[in-house]
Amino acid sequence: MYLTLYANEKGELIEHPGMGMLGRSGKEWLEPIAEEMILLPEGSSLVTVPYRIPVGIDENGKLAYFDYNPFSAGEKVYAVAALLPQGFSRTLLPACTSQANAKELPLFGYTAVGFKDGEIYVAAVQSDEHRKWHPERYNTKELPGKIKLMLEKYPENRILRQLAHCSMEYGCFTAQNIFCQRWEGGIPTMNICNANCIGCISESHTGVEAPQDRINFTPETKEIVEIGLEHLNSAPEAIISFGQGCEGEPSLNARKLSEAIKQIRQSSAKGTININTNAGYTEGITMMCDAGMDAMRVTIFSCVEDNYNSYHRPSTYSLSDVKSSIKYAKDKHLTISMNLLIFPGFTDTKEEMESLVDFAQECNIDMIQLRNLNIDPDFLMSHFPNTGSGIGITNFIELLQKEIPRVVIGSYTHPVR
Ligand code: SF4
Repeated sequence: MYLTLYANEKGELIEHPGMGMLGRSGKEWLEPIAEEMILLPEGSSLVTVPYRIPVGIDENGKLAYFDYNPFSAGEKVYAVAALLPQGFSRTLLPACTSQANAKELPLFGYTAVGFKDGEIYVAAVQSDEHRKWHPERYNTKELPGKIKLMLEKYPENRILRQLAHCSMEYGCFTAQNIFCQRWEGGIPTMNICNANCIGCISESHTGVEAPQDRINFTPETKEIVEIGLEHLNSAPEAIISFGQGCEGEPSLNARKLSEAIKQIRQSSAKGTININTNAGYTEGITMMCDAGMDAMRVTIFSCVEDNYNSYHRPSTYSLSDVKSSIKYAKDKHLTISMNLLIFPGFTDTKEEMESLVDFAQECNIDMIQLRNLNIDPDFLMSHFPNTGSGIGITNFIELLQKEIPRVVIGSYTHPVR
């Protein structure tokens, strides 16, 4: 049995010797099974869950929650959760309940934790190797110097100034990779979007602030080409990705991005040119495919049309446009990934799984990236009140591997060239 962990007012992490751990799946609280738990991976953060108190199983097997420290009279306690690094997919949400007048939670991927044999465990599975995304490789003391060097080399480039801001203010990994000249680097270019996703991280559509501000200018082709060539020609395992956390929908900028892709490919055949997109603007996607793009990652919360519309709230396109974009890109030999926003107790329900398998087969996608959805669980569930029970994320992954064995299951984009 895993024990419940909680935090006191000093933010100290404490295990409750008499309270068994619970996790949450959709609207249900469950006792975790061994397959759903791993030792807390390096690079994880442990956080208190604001305005939430822990729920567990007491010695009599009864559901119990506690808002005061049983070992320090009158001291308030708080639920705790882990935030996972790339490469790990959450299997259970934290079991906690709201205090009165509790505010909505900030946009993070809250994951259940427990304590056993002197170790902290988390409800997760490893879904990809995390060498390149290990937090110890980021926010290093050398970073400001690398940023300064690149800004001096391209003093007029506004995108680089944006990426410097994102690196230092938000700790964005793909922004830092541009200055560190390695792996996947982000190139943001667009501040508007044709969707209004509930959990958008660059423009708030909930009661909480978006963690990032959107880029507030549209760069020139020259600025895009400068960074693209610099990165593709110098970075190992190089990828440049349009569509970052600080922008809207990049394909709406297809004219400039297509021109940039052509100019980049005229000078260099190195690396991978990728777009992170909702793929709703088919005309823009086809333009960029024709220009020479190599890969496309499409963000999807649900392949069930009504649920897709309820989450992404597209303003000018439909799920069938998304399919058309993907099919065109496949015909053009792009590598297609689905950035599946996973939420235990929703993604692993029968209806969602069946529609996902159908979608993956119909569109012949190459990879499903399991992305922990950053959102307040109660807020999300309030939009999907009729959600049935899930089969568990570990069973869900097994089923995907059985039903669509050709599709790679992972958690981030890999180079295709
Ligand atoms: S597609 Fe991206 S930028 Fe647009 S609303 Fe959704 S999350 Fe936000």
